[in-house]
Amino acid sequence: MNWTTLNLGMSEHPPPILLNPGPVNLSPGVRAALTKPDLCHREPEFADLQAGIRANLLDVYDLTPSEWTSVLLAGSGTAAVEAMLTSVVAEDGKVLVIENGVYGERMARMCKVHGIDHCEVTHAWGDAIDLEAVAKELDLNTRITHVAAVHHETTTGRLNDLEALADLCRGHGIPVLLDGVSSFAAEALNFDSIAACAATASKCLHGVPGVSFVIARRDLLSSESPKRTLYLDLATYCHEQDERNTPFTQPVQIYYALEQALTELEAQGGWRARHKHYSGLAQQVREGLSALGVEPLLKTHESSVALNAYHVPHSISYDTLHDGLKAQGFVIYAGQGRLARDIFRISTMGAITHKDIERLLRAFRDMVGNSAN
Ligand SMILES: *Cc1c(COP(=O)(O)O)cnc(C)c1O
Repeated sequence: MNWTTLNLGMSEHPPPILLNPGPVNLSPGVRAALTKPDLCHREPEFADLQAGIRANLLDVYDLTPSEWTSVLLAGSGTAAVEAMLTSVVAEDGKVLVIENGVYGERMARMCKVHGIDHCEVTHAWGDAIDLEAVAKELDLNTRITHVAAVHHETTTGRLNDLEALADLCRGHGIPVLLDGVSSFAAEALNFDSIAACAATASKCLHGVPGVSFVIARRDLLSSESPKRTLYLDLATYCHEQDERNTPFTQPVQIYYALEQALTELEAQGGWRARHKHYSGLAQQVREGLSALGVEPLLKTHESSVALNAYHVPHSISYDTLHDGLKAQGFVIYAGQGRLARDIFRISTMGAITHKDIERLLRAFRDMVGNSAN
């Protein structure tokens, strides 16, 4: 297939509406930014681009640059989480990992892979964090130096109660390392409660996958930081980026897209406006599906605004539902692991409108009618 026929093919079939939690449907502006002029990552124009993005990331939550730094990495959200854990926890440190879904469990696997001493407070997927169990662990295990937690556990859509957890950790003098990959830019995020937060360009920020970042208190990333990895060492990135440089080649076009996505976020009213927009879309989906007998896994106040999980109706299998909706231009997202057959997920991250959701609900009605359950 040559480029011309590829282009024609794409315009005849508009890309589907992505209801997965990233990569997201791009705005026209972000898509256009991908075609900006070629640029060498050792030129001052790149240094300006990088510095602008780092500053704008701090601005999303009004963070002071003297106290906080944002460090950019090539890689998906997992790279940022792994960089945070490996770069911040000292050689003799110990991490308490809170697990109530895939992403908490992934952080424990990261600790294991890198030989980081850790212990876990586990829950069934979707359950709220058991603060008593966390308190008990912190009391008993005095070697714990950090708590690692997921803000929005995308496995089930649960928004973990960061403030309650942070209060408890503060009482023990333990800093919180946060996986904010699927909440950054869409949920309230009190940085006074945490020491570092890992996130990505391609979820609630509406950028392109390939760049992720960690926002950390500056004093965490000194030259004495542990060196467990060469490529993911945040202190190295931070130092080089402060010097208007980068240790390795960065995905320049994806930077352009992120710069544009941050400009659009600000123009649209920042994270609060995005929260409100997502909240409206999520409510529209909930009400529409509820009318068809399709019920959510969690209550509204337990869920993030960015993604909600729903029970697969008894009248249809997930695969049939997925394929039928895809044929009508909508990509829904399966449950993970043991939830794969039982739930599906709808994320409204990205350039999605109420009109898109109206069409989605019509497509659902065609698929499940009123025979659900
Ligand atoms: C998506 C996600 C990740 C991992 O992101 P990738 O970009 O797939 O590497 C980590 N944590 C949470 C909470 C996520 O939603």
